[in-house]
Amino acid sequence: MRSTTLVIALLAIPFVLPLFAQTASDQYVLDLSAMDKSVDPCGDFYTYSCGGWMKANPVPPDQSSWGTYGKLQDENLAQLRTILEEAAKAGADKSSTVQKIGDYYASCMDESAIDKLGSSPLAPEFDRIANLKSKTELAEYLSTSQFPTPIFGSGSLFTFRSTQDAKNSAEVIAEADQGGLSLPDRDYYLKDDNQSKELRNAYVAHVQKILQLLGDKPEQAAEEATTVLRIETELAQSHMTRVERRDPQKLYHRMSVAELAKLSPSFDWAEYLKKNGLASANSLNVAVPEYFRTMSTAVEKESLADWKTYLRWHAAHAAATYLSSAFDKENFNFYGKTLRGQQELPPRWKRCTNDVDSDLGEALGKAYVDRYFSPDAKVAAGKMVKEIERSMQDEIQAMPWMGQTTKKQALLKLEAIANKVGYPDRWRDYSALEIVRGDEMGNAQRAAWFEFRRQMAKVGKPVDKTEWTMTPPTVNAYYDPQKNDINFPAGILQPPLFSPKSDAAPNYGNTGGTMGHELTHAFDDEGSQFDAQGNLRNWWTEADRKAFEERAQCVVDQYSGYPIIDDIKINGKLTDGEDIADLGGTLLAYLAWKADTRDQKLEPIDGLTPEQRFFIGYGQSWCTNERDEFKRLRATVDPHSPEKYRANGVVSNMPEFREAFHCKAGQPMVREKLCRIW
Ligand SMILES: [Zn+2]
Repeated sequence: MRSTTLVIALLAIPFVLPLFAQTASDQYVLDLSAMDKSVDPCGDFYTYSCGGWMKANPVPPDQSSWGTYGKLQDENLAQLRTILEEAAKAGADKSSTVQKIGDYYASCMDESAIDKLGSSPLAPEFDRIANLKSKTELAEYLSTSQFPTPIFGSGSLFTFRSTQDAKNSAEVIAEADQGGLSLPDRDYYLKDDNQSKELRNAYVAHVQKILQLLGDKPEQAAEEATTVLRIETELAQSHMTRVERRDPQKLYHRMSVAELAKLSPSFDWAEYLKKNGLASANSLNVAVPEYFRTMSTAVEKESLADWKTYLRWHAAHAAATYLSSAFDKENFNFYGKTLRGQQELPPRWKRCTNDVDSDLGEALGKAYVDRYFSPDAKVAAGKMVKEIERSMQDEIQAMPWMGQTTKKQALLKLEAIANKVGYPDRWRDYSALEIVRGDEMGNAQRAAWFEFRRQMAKVGKPVDKTEWTMTPPTVNAYYDPQKNDINFPAGILQPPLFSPKSDAAPNYGNTGGTMGHELTHAFDDEGSQFDAQGNLRNWWTEADRKAFEERAQCVVDQYSGYPIIDDIKINGKLTDGEDIADLGGTLLAYLAWKADTRDQKLEPIDGLTPEQRFFIGYGQSWCTNERDEFKRLRATVDPHSPEKYRANGVVSNMPEFREAFHCKAGQPMVREKLCRIW
């Protein structure tokens, strides 16, 4: 899944990739078997809500994590598979878009044809790398490589995209960002503990194996793998950390092309921009200047031969899942098994379905929405979002710690937020993308280029506010601070998370909580730095900002105390925005539910009061089992806290919860010092 710089999502984008036969039951109520009623809700609310689910739902062999969201995503995938298998059948009367998704899927599923090709689809790219005559040709190569950045992984050398200017959201500009690594984070290269060292050794062994599969002799491949690690480590040193990157001011460095050339003289920027159709661009954002200074030094310092090794690895790495099963398996051994703890390669249909979702997502998404997303669900979800926004309006007006001047700005921002529910108003046009049946690698490459050119073509044009960064079947949601919109794809508005016919209490606790979460992102420590127009501009009075930051620190301190695995605790500064959004979102959902049902007489169901069902609905949205390897990975890269704390961390701050379950002071789910922001 592609992501822009600043989109803030409900779930980690790279990890919840891909899903319950849709039981659109008329009266969806809480799943009592998911609970463990032997556990005291005031002691550990997460286990009380999810204990039964966790016992009944071990992590499947092809997954690294298995939770309510991941399970729904797996079910959505099965629905997409039905659509794709029908589209792939020859002879049926099809629109050109259906033809494209069908041909793409059929090409991907034809494993024996792919196996016969071995590594030969990479040959043209390797010839180009072998023929590079000097390091000055790097720019020309990177701007025409078959594996354009940022579409394939983090890209060779750096990431390049278009974005709205942070300080003038009406202007679309180009942006160069750090990149060039093949491990998930700078920490993997720089940390010195035994586990990090072991992972680095496993990585080097993996690079060596891939290079051997390409025909290199073992000793040569071993040496090349060391070269790759050395270059990537140099680059990693100048990567900004994930915590630093949460501050949008630190990522804003608009400069002229001449200034970039001066900062990073060993790379021919003018050539790179020209080749990407940006010859007339005078300036761009350089998100991490220090990275480009370091990259330039590395280009100078390392030999052309070593750069060729690096580029060859990056091309093979980007291509691995589209090549024969030997490459696919070795790629899985490291990135699936070692890094994430998956036991088995997911079945091919899942991976092919994900590829279509990634490359032709709105073509597939349109077919998905037509078949699996009811107009009723769209209307009901839209109404719920409105209720939640009304609650936020009341909350801001009543906020004891914020002055009138800031309140006025906050209300303006709230009013300007656009709500996007289900799917885009205008579907992406894929007519310029050629899909050839039987050409798996070619399809992937043309799709990558289609996307990259689409990105580049946006530079200098008006912002398309109808655009989505997630595809319709995705089980996730996001807030975009530059467009100032909240987005809820059709994929997450499905049972058991959401049903227009459900008991309102768990529906609000669950999906209402998600909506409140995204809305609160507009006002978390990061989102609150953008104004109603999506510009990075301080609209706070000094005193109010200080009061906000003190409250945000309360959340950092709370979450930093929670253990993840081994001796690793939550990095509360990394997860602060998400924790604030969880806390604010659940309270907003609670208030909206109360407002929405104020004229109804709410009754207990199954011995649970409406308030209890609200909170259990929230708690059960987080039921998850996870492999240890994946916990460690997330601790480093994921701005979201582990699910247990997304449940317990929130409810232990809420007097409404304490009242619903009659908890007493001193019990674990009753914090002495309550954090509260929105
Ligand atoms: Zn979020």
